[in-house]
Amino acid sequence: MGQLSQSCSRMGLEDEIAQSDWQTLAACRGAGAELFFPGREAGAAAKIIAAKKLCATCPVQQECLQYALFVLPHEQRRFGIWGGLTEKERRKLRNTLNRNGRKSAEEAA
Ligand code: SF4
Repeated sequence: MGQLSQSCSRMGLEDEIAQSDWQTLAACRGAGAELFFPGREAGAAAKIIAAKKLCATCPVQQECLQYALFVLPHEQRRFGIWGGLTEKERRKLRNTLNRNGRKSAEEAA
């Protein structure tokens, strides 16, 4: 079982993993979960940087980000680095996407 799968399993996401196969190509397979789910411990910033570097090489970065944005249950979206973005960065992106979606809908009306 790869590290992403272990991380997701830890978060109770086995069903979602079973429905998708992009995780088999994840660059983070074999990487430590603590890299992608850093807490507030000393060295957390360095872990985030290292995780983002790995994500930048990942062939399924877009799939991973989309999964985090649109598939993960809301309560689990708040944790970890997915698709190269922290939870705070994903929240900002989600807000931008929602704003642009509303703007497009208003323009089409
Ligand atoms: S983008 Fe990052 S977190 Fe997502 S599968 Fe790739 S390496 Fe793992």
